[in-house]
Amino acid sequence: MNETSRILVVGAGHGGGNVVAALRMGGHEGEIVLIGDEPSAPYHRPPLSKTYLKGKAEAATLKLRPESWYDAENIELRLGQSATALDPAVRTLTLGDGTQLSWDRLILATGSRARRLAIPGAELDGILHLRSLADSDRLREAVGPGRRLVIVGGGYIGLEVAASAIALGTEAVLIERESRILARVACEPLAAFFDRYHRGKGLEIRPGVDVEAFEGQGGHVSGVRLAGGEIIDCDAVVVGVGAALCDGLARDAGLACEAGGVVVDENGRTSAEGIYAIGDMTWRPMPLYGGRRFRLESVPNAVEQGRRVAADILGKAPPAHEVPWVWSDQYEVKLQIVGVPFDSHRLVVRGAIDEAKFAIFHLADSGRVLAVEAVNMPQEFMAGRTLVGEARVVDPDLLADTNIPIKEIVQRG
Ligand code: NAP
Repeated sequence: MNETSRILVVGAGHGGGNVVAALRMGGHEGEIVLIGDEPSAPYHRPPLSKTYLKGKAEAATLKLRPESWYDAENIELRLGQSATALDPAVRTLTLGDGTQLSWDRLILATGSRARRLAIPGAELDGILHLRSLADSDRLREAVGPGRRLVIVGGGYIGLEVAASAIALGTEAVLIERESRILARVACEPLAAFFDRYHRGKGLEIRPGVDVEAFEGQGGHVSGVRLAGGEIIDCDAVVVGVGAALCDGLARDAGLACEAGGVVVDENGRTSAEGIYAIGDMTWRPMPLYGGRRFRLESVPNAVEQGRRVAADILGKAPPAHEVPWVWSDQYEVKLQIVGVPFDSHRLVVRGAIDEAKFAIFHLADSGRVLAVEAVNMPQEFMAGRTLVGEARVVDPDLLADTNIPIKEIVQRG
């Protein structure tokens, strides 16, 4: 890459916002253009279901970097613009207004959007989703004392919204299609803990139930009809039923894709020369787990992939692989998960689940630590990074014994 080469980044979320910084800080002197369909420069999304929703953070504090930073670093922002097509053969990208931009390197960081439920009544006012700042602003209007909210979906969006809404005095009911909440993203004992915790705070949880339709009055949602006919009255609904990948540009351009997303290598390279992809919509190799492919829907993943792409473009050695991790805050509970429990063979609980202070270690049949789910146990989470990252085999009895500090277990090697 030389100082006249132009890098286009499509998608101004965590991935896009961080990769442009990594490129400039890493020494790229040519043009960098960041294209995003939202009106704002990149901002932190995690507070949208937590502090921001509760009115404890202002929009200005969510920005990844102030707008002046992009000027100072000579990074062109094209906001409120969607990219509609790309042509890998002639290296052009078309925007919604018809503009065509050429590139030397293209980075797709288009992420995902909130999945919609295609059921009767889905177009009614008061049916909300949570992905963007504007979504969170709408939801803020719908919560508070005297309001009744139905949340469809018991994943992280559903549970974090429930915790914030209840803290604001809202009455809330959560409907989950699976037989338990967090079915896709947490083990059974952890999900059972959150189920009890939320119920204790006043959330009504209805697992194993399908939503059939939204009922309305005067164009606004007034209830949710369940399979079987029961209607739950409400003033608003939040639908948190997963992420829909924004991988259409890549698919339409013929880049290699699987059902799980755009296929990339360890450095974010797609099947097309000069085109990279990062973030939620990538189907990426997992070096810590034998190279199998997976989709990681998390901020740390988007940032890690961005760093590796920047190194690849700049011709530098890639940074070390990171151990995947995510976190979630609900009420006064801090959940931190490190690793991915593929092929988990045995669970070891350390600490006291009923005191909301515990960590669940997932072990392979070889005894290797695959993942750790830590609730209000930050040291166990930190230790988990080492144990998972170094593929350590640890005696389960040691892990379960809280009389032995976790740091000592790590140091024993
Ligand atoms: P999610 O984790 O996929 O959870 C959605 C849940 O809704 C699943 O359990 C799903 O069950 C259920 N569901 C699907 N269709 C349903 C229906 N018709 N009725 C009732 N339940 C239904 O997704 P999410 O919570 O919506 O989160 C969206 C994205 O934001 C994800 O990428 C997530 O990782 C991210 N996010 C992350 C955090 C965090 O890491 N702290 C916080 C917020 C959001 P099935 O499995 O059967 O589909």
